[in-house]
Amino acid sequence: MAKKKVRIEYDTCTACELCYDRVPEVFKDKGDGIADVVRYDIEEDEETKWMYVPEDLESEVEEVADECPSGSIIVEEED
Ligand code: SF4
Repeated sequence: MAKKKVRIEYDTCTACELCYDRVPEVFKDKGDGIADVVRYDIEEDEETKWMYVPEDLESEVEEVADECPSGSIIVEEED
């Protein structure tokens, strides 16, 4: 099965706190309420930092990505 990766679109995150309240193993507060992933596994540039989603948390991450009010949680399958 393809590995999933997740990142935050920092520009559109509204700091609603939902993701890091729900899945603190993957999401955190960057310091200003804006969300971030807790670990960078792939750093494409300053704005594009991915974490591989732990397999046992895939469904929680997908759910919270669907519920994010601004659609700022990006989940993709690794190529
Ligand atoms: S759920 Fe979405 S809007 Fe809310 S803090 Fe997380 S990324 Fe930001």
